Amino acid sequence: MSNSDCLFCKIIAGQIPAKIAYQDDKCLAFHDINPQAPTHVLVIPREHIASLKEASASLHNELLGHLLTSAAKIASDLGIAEDGFRTVINTGAKAGQSVFHIHVHVLGGRGLAWPPG
Ligand code: 5GP
Ligand code: ZN
Repeated sequence: MSNSDCLFCKIIAGQIPAKIAYQDDKCLAFHDINPQAPTHVLVIPREHIASLKEASASLHNELLGHLLTSAAKIASDLGIAEDGFRTVINTGAKAGQSVFHIHVHVLGGRGLAWPPG
């Protein structure tokens, strides 16, 4: 279930501190250590899944939906939903993924350009 070499599994286990924004039985959300917007939170499943590429329809549909609805709730709770916020899942190093435990970035509190880089 968890991966002893994984940074985010260590945050879930409480071995590395993080500023928690939300948690429940399936997911944990914490503030990004290097925020790219005034509000930048990462929503992760408690279960270790390396990336969206490794997620399966038969096992993970409900969990992935839960991450997204939790992201919206967190955006609302943190006061960034009204003006708009962005959810991002980077998949693979070339797409910007640096931590291989799936996570949804939730960014808001400023205008966000499109397309991304
Ligand atoms: P990725 O590049 O994989 O899409 O996103 C990984 C994110 O994790 C980055 O935005 C990075 O700043 C954040 N991050 C990396 N290490 C830590 C950490 O130890 N604590 C927290 N809170 N965020 C981290
Ligand atoms: Zn992990």
